[in-house]
Amino acid sequence: MGVEEVLSRKTGVIVGEDVHKLFKYAHEKGFAIPAVNVTSSSTVVSVLEAARDSKSPIIIQTSNGGAAYFAGKGIANTNQYASIHGAIAAAHYVRSIAPSYGVPVVLHTDHCAKKLLPWFDGLLDADEAYYKQHGEPLFSSHMLDLSEEPDEENIGLCAKYFKRMSKMDQWLEMEIGITGGEEDGVNNEHIHASRLYTTPETVYKVHEALSKISPNFSIAASFGNTHGMYKPGNVVLKPELLGDYQSYAAKQLGLKEGSKPLFLVFHGGSGSSDKEFTTAIKFGCVKVNLDTELQYAYLTGIRDYILTKKDYLSSTVGNPEGAGKPNKKYFDPRVWVREGEKTETEKVKERLHVFNADGQL
Ligand SMILES: [Zn+2]
Repeated sequence: MGVEEVLSRKTGVIVGEDVHKLFKYAHEKGFAIPAVNVTSSSTVVSVLEAARDSKSPIIIQTSNGGAAYFAGKGIANTNQYASIHGAIAAAHYVRSIAPSYGVPVVLHTDHCAKKLLPWFDGLLDADEAYYKQHGEPLFSSHMLDLSEEPDEENIGLCAKYFKRMSKMDQWLEMEIGITGGEEDGVNNEHIHASRLYTTPETVYKVHEALSKISPNFSIAASFGNTHGMYKPGNVVLKPELLGDYQSYAAKQLGLKEGSKPLFLVFHGGSGSSDKEFTTAIKFGCVKVNLDTELQYAYLTGIRDYILTKKDYLSSTVGNPEGAGKPNKKYFDPRVWVREGEKTETEKVKERLHVFNADGQL
């Protein structure tokens, strides 16, 4: 028995009840699903290929900047125009190609801070328009990250948006506490280490507020996470904290010890150890965000190709095999971009294995 048996839609983008069923299944079986940031059709297919080969569900997401890139850097992002339309274009692309890979896909958008709320509004408008036509939202889920605001305001605004989203049976991921480091132009490198750990009481406050609206939400709390890859520093990752969040919430809810009432998300996963991942998964982490290390993985294939084939790439005609030899089969983007896809696919497969997501279909 695999996850496909509990889903009503077995392949392609899943929504509503199916998203909840998938995360619940991950809880029960003890695995997490990587959420990979994509910026192009090439990175989308790299990720889908990994999920297909590993027989795993997958989460595909665009960040605010990644979405604008998907639209094309030539489009101005005035009033979030490129980020809205790039995310929508990515969503339609993923929706159309994902069934060909035979895996269930959660279609998600990454961090949305307060100043980016016009982006979020634009995405929800697109969801509602799609819902009118097809009876489901365009995206499976979205993330709101108001963690820079005071907790009350953060939770209050999340609840407000969640009410709108729940009418479409859509999943919300929210962040409470601060992820350190730097990603997509948001720099938290200056934040004091003590603010990088969320308390179990605060996490429970989120659960209390959101569970009144719908069960379809997850929490990205901070347990020392950092975006990007750094040398080990003064912020220590404490994945055991996720266990404290679960047991505190279970106690408040009168559930038996060891139950996992919360769906938790691991941000800033790049550079973490296998043990840190498995500890987080043991305590109910169902989604791990991966960006930085996959950006690097994508580069390595292209970099190595360019460096080893340098003498075939300096002109359209003429290489070490002869002055008149054509180089078309070396500079065709289908050849060198493909090398980046291969190395990204391999890295995603490695992660699927570490997260115990491989073979779960
Ligand atoms: Zn993040």
